[in-house]
Amino acid sequence: MVIIPEPTNNSPRVDLGNIEFLKSAANLSHCPDDTGLEVAFCGRSNAGKSSAINYLTGQNKLARTSKTPGRTQLINFFTVSDEFRLVDLPGYGYAKVPTRMKRDWHENIDNYLRNRLSLTGLVLLMDIRHPLKAFDHTMINWSAQAQMPLHILLTKCDKLKRGAQQATLLKVKRELADQKSTTIQLFSSTHEIGQKLLLKQLSDWVNQGHRGDLVSRQDASLSEVIPSAD
Ligand code: GDP
Repeated sequence: MVIIPEPTNNSPRVDLGNIEFLKSAANLSHCPDDTGLEVAFCGRSNAGKSSAINYLTGQNKLARTSKTPGRTQLINFFTVSDEFRLVDLPGYGYAKVPTRMKRDWHENIDNYLRNRLSLTGLVLLMDIRHPLKAFDHTMINWSAQAQMPLHILLTKCDKLKRGAQQATLLKVKRELADQKSTTIQLFSSTHEIGQKLLLKQLSDWVNQGHRGDLVSRQDASLSEVIPSAD
């Protein structure tokens, strides 16, 4: 008898067990060599990005969490393996950040996004209580223009009851229904919700192994879509 294996979805999972801090970069020229693959995490300040990276990797102190949002302005790189890095992009849009700093943020992130060929996917974090702010639309639009796969985390979902979580998830999904390479999930670092799904998404991107090309990003300038105020 021939046994036909069931189709499985068991592509190898990324192992984050050996993740370690690599370096911080103030701008593109300070970034590590643009080899292999990278997934970058972005979001408005206080969206829960540092907590998410720490929860995802199981390391409490990997990314700094802070009650003073907007302080970390550097691009932080973490080595997962020789071929894969996680990147923590500086948070955006905290009111107390001086205009000069916002301009620097803009220029550095625009440069990074447009030129970094190892960037294979973006993770956008939005507080589930305040989704789809101007900054989020900027990143969503940029990803669509640049044909960059985007995975959205609705963070701090523990702050809402189950019904409200699902209602927000559905609403955001509907609003983004025409964004083809965008996926979205619930997430909570404090209540340990969503780690597996996120890890699966990262693994899918790594297994697909698509490095970027400058052609698709040529016209996708963050400068053209970034809001002046949030
Ligand atoms: P970042 O500025 O995006 O890096 O945000 P942080 O990770 O520093 O988190 C900002 C604040 O939100 C901190 O006070 C965290 O304790 C809190 N926070 C982060 N994630 C969660 C979560 O899943 N649930 C709840 N209730 N609070 C969270």
